[in-house]
Amino acid sequence: MENSRRTFLKQAAGFSATCHLGLDDAAVADPSIDPAVGKAAENNSTGWYGRPMRWAQLAFVEDDPGNYDLSFWLDYFRKIHADAACLSAGGAVAFYPTEVPLHYRSRWLGASDTFGDIAAGCRKLGMNVIARTDSHACHQDVYDAHPDWIAVDIYGKKRKHPSDPDYWITCALGPYNFEFMTAVHQEVMRKYMVDGIFTNRWAGSGMCYCEHCRVNFKAFSGLDLPVTNDPQDPARRQYILWNQKRLFDLWRLWNEKIREINPQASYIANAGGGALSPLDMKTIAELAPTLFADRQGRSGLMAPWANGKNGKEYRATMGTKSIAGIVSIGFEEKYRWKDSVQSGEEIRMWMADGIAQGLHPWFAKFNAKIIDRRWLPVIEEVYNWHHANEHYLRDQKPLARVGMVYSQQTAAFYGGENARSVVEDPALGFYQALIEARVPFEMVHDQMLELEHIAQFRTLILPNIAALSDVQCRQIKEFVENGGSVVATFETSLYNEWGVRRNDFGLGSLFGVTYAGRVQGPMLNSYLALKQEPGANSYHPLLAGFEDATRIINAVHQVDVKPLTETSFSPLEIVPSYPDLPMEAVFPPPATTHNSGAFLNAPGRGRVAYFPGDIDRTFWDVLDVDHAHLLRNAVLWATNEMAPITVEGPGVLDISVWEQKNSMTVHLVNLTNPMLMKGPIREIFPIGKQCLRMQIAPKRSVKRAKLLVAGKEVPFKVEQSSIVLDVPSVILHEVVAVDLNT
Ligand SMILES: [Zn+2]
Repeated sequence: MENSRRTFLKQAAGFSATCHLGLDDAAVADPSIDPAVGKAAENNSTGWYGRPMRWAQLAFVEDDPGNYDLSFWLDYFRKIHADAACLSAGGAVAFYPTEVPLHYRSRWLGASDTFGDIAAGCRKLGMNVIARTDSHACHQDVYDAHPDWIAVDIYGKKRKHPSDPDYWITCALGPYNFEFMTAVHQEVMRKYMVDGIFTNRWAGSGMCYCEHCRVNFKAFSGLDLPVTNDPQDPARRQYILWNQKRLFDLWRLWNEKIREINPQASYIANAGGGALSPLDMKTIAELAPTLFADRQGRSGLMAPWANGKNGKEYRATMGTKSIAGIVSIGFEEKYRWKDSVQSGEEIRMWMADGIAQGLHPWFAKFNAKIIDRRWLPVIEEVYNWHHANEHYLRDQKPLARVGMVYSQQTAAFYGGENARSVVEDPALGFYQALIEARVPFEMVHDQMLELEHIAQFRTLILPNIAALSDVQCRQIKEFVENGGSVVATFETSLYNEWGVRRNDFGLGSLFGVTYAGRVQGPMLNSYLALKQEPGANSYHPLLAGFEDATRIINAVHQVDVKPLTETSFSPLEIVPSYPDLPMEAVFPPPATTHNSGAFLNAPGRGRVAYFPGDIDRTFWDVLDVDHAHLLRNAVLWATNEMAPITVEGPGVLDISVWEQKNSMTVHLVNLTNPMLMKGPIREIFPIGKQCLRMQIAPKRSVKRAKLLVAGKEVPFKVEQSSIVLDVPSVILHEVVAVDLNT
């Protein structure tokens, strides 16, 4: 106990006696970076899916056939060591001589076979090839032949495509997908025997009220299609379930039909994401042998770590299966400049963060005619580095000891239309706090809370995971009984899995509280007062760094709670809102209540920190540094063990730590940039020396340590079970690779 407390204090104070080693920065150059390991031998048991490390996507536009330079692209793919390609085949427009009735051929295709030619060229380069289709839009002849295939709006009107008046929007849940697109997919597979088929915009373009949707939904639920977005409307609740079922049925159908032709292939939907994505990630992971995370770039206010977050969200259910991270060459803003090329430094940072968090890079280029060449050397450089170091970038296991739960059911049934602010924002706030705290962590799916899935973690974070079933609550309690720790905020577990409020918290016994019947907010001018335990002359570790403050700002919303035991002590006491105007009135009245702002318990063998306020969401809202430190301190106190990796030095870093068979790696992505919260990046600003301490697995010894971007070995020390070394500087991305003796 005493030892772990010292460990904590050391971490919290940012102090390490071994940080400054006085190492000689002039390290030895290392020309012998490991060559790529033999690819074909790996993953035989799981098909081709684990093989590709770098993807190239060309999304043809209709006038590409005959107007683009095939040999340029094949040469480029070879030069950048792309080992798989996703190429447009059909759906909205066919780029091959299709014979499926009503399958619209490009008017530029003539007698050629654009898709077939480039697919054959890629094959010759040894690349895997998947065919891209798009099923969201069709031409007038389809409308005329099958008006029932067209999506219908709430007023009963068939939907014209909002962007191109030549097209109609199709219904995703009816015969257009189930019959017509099935025929397209079968034809593509028969003619080209590709490794897979990937469909863009296959899951619908908003609610459809067509005759098929009406009839099928009625048969499923006995109800009419919902006309509200309220998840507590019985029809909406049923629709959320039916829509998923229908799409998973479609996925299974397409998969089965193409595998009848090519058993080595799979249907791979463009699907997945975090809490806000509509399709259950656990089911997706059961269906998909590999996935492509389609978060192509930043728009609006967004940090570059959003790409890595997406990778972690996919990995939470996909485990060790390969996940590619799709990166757009173009600007990703709402004005949709699809032919644009964005800043090279932005592409670099977005890609680096994805790679650091385990995504295999995939660039997506719309329009095969080169309008702007500036992106080409950027991708070439990133891919060539990735190829040279891929030995350290595949078959890796994350070593993070902290997991942050995300919950699609909380977004769907508790969040509803407000899911972005009440479900995603708390997670974003906690994410940013952990980035600032340099704590490596994974994302955890709320349907995978069985001990076997979460045993790798010491601490689970529940950022307002409001909707939890009895089973999920029991799983979290078991985790704590087995020595796990929990940090939770606000309304976590106050609702059941359908978003219906419980009488009391499902996790009240862990939090040490009972619901007092009210949720307050938004509150103005409320604070958290710092308290010392009677008889103690120092603050609880939760308040490390706040010693010279008597209070800090409170969250904006909070749940009123009562402690389960009256004698429990809290280091934070809520100072309720008091007038913020006129200025003469801005002082707190004498305290009449002494409600706690944080509950700290050790109910099993683990530790539990519960904040009744929405500290994490408030942090994302106002970014107060005290809230970042409070969240960090809570995680460090709860985790209560030596971290797998600590990195000390200036700057903002996204950190990941991995183990491979005979090596370990630490990725450092330098996010220190005036464009951290809103892109695009103009310039990369290198940061100075970082001192690393990484735990080495028991019974393993270190052969050497090197920096995969700087391309040189680094001196190191081994102290107890850790390796200690300095990284002299990080430009954008550095990978410390530690080879272990076999
Ligand atoms: Zn429909």
